[in-house]
Amino acid sequence: MNDISENEQLSVDTAADDLTADEGGDGKNLVADGTLYLVGTPIGNLSDISPRALKVLTECSFIAAEDTRVTAKLCARYGIRRPMIQYHEHNKRDAGERIAERLAAGESCALVTDAGMPGISDPGADMVKLFCERGLPVTCVPGPCAALTALVLSGLPTDRFVFEGFLTSDSAVKRRRRIDELASETRTLILYEAPHRLAATLKQLFEGFGDRRIALCRELTKLNEEVMRTTLSEAVSHFGELQPRGEFVLVIEGCPEKPNELTSLPVTEHVRRYMDGGMSKNDAMKAAARDRGVSKSVIYRELLDSGEK
Ligand code: SAM
Repeated sequence: MNDISENEQLSVDTAADDLTADEGGDGKNLVADGTLYLVGTPIGNLSDISPRALKVLTECSFIAAEDTRVTAKLCARYGIRRPMIQYHEHNKRDAGERIAERLAAGESCALVTDAGMPGISDPGADMVKLFCERGLPVTCVPGPCAALTALVLSGLPTDRFVFEGFLTSDSAVKRRRRIDELASETRTLILYEAPHRLAATLKQLFEGFGDRRIALCRELTKLNEEVMRTTLSEAVSHFGELQPRGEFVLVIEGCPEKPNELTSLPVTEHVRRYMDGGMSKNDAMKAAARDRGVSKSVIYRELLDSGEK
């Protein structure tokens, strides 16, 4: 979360006005007993909280937060004082049960995670699953989401897209396999990535996908917001030299439905382009073979015939 300007006080006052205006007629804005509210919270700029989110956080029986210290800052900013409990990756089973019991007994709960929409790459989805299984009421107060914010800023096609969340960090082999599976995906691809893994991930994506357009969306809605619209090969060399900082969303162009422009080059040049971007010769041959819809041995023979070793 970043520092907020003086404007924030203005938005708090506005929010308070809106709450009063809404309260009379619209039953959907009443906080109902026994209901779980998934409340979207800011992904950086605290002014991005909605009036309805503030109302639910203010009026619910208790707040279930991924990290109570993070949510305490949001609550302090808006003068919200509700009892808070923890609901996170490591206690989600037990905490989920306790929350379900309290709601079955008539309390209401606002579920928030550290940032954005609960359920998107965080434990919120498990709570919803539990509530669906129990037939308990659950509803959502929509708010910001890093994935969609990045997508709309990317300049890449938004009509069809795939959200992949974080690539697995289990093993290098599993990661590479997943990247290979995604290589033929034609829809725009959205990924979350931690800064310390960014350089390695970009390199793996380049090796698996070949060169494509990418938007690296950093620190969205914060003071240092930045959207770098570039190609995978340029991103690899940029972050080979620079230590990335902050939170990132990667938005990557889908696999071209027609052979990409590299296929109009001679095979040697096609392979060379990939090697210039940092690929090993073997990976470059594989990528060129995939682009051209031929086997790697065909590429290898062409290189030999043209005198390349
Ligand atoms: N539930 C959240 C949402 O709706 O976007 C995502 C939670 S996930 C645990 C956290 C990841 O979201 C970060 O590692 C980063 O990839 C992305 N993210 C969150 N806030 C961001 C921001 N302000 N700018 C860029 N990426 C962000």
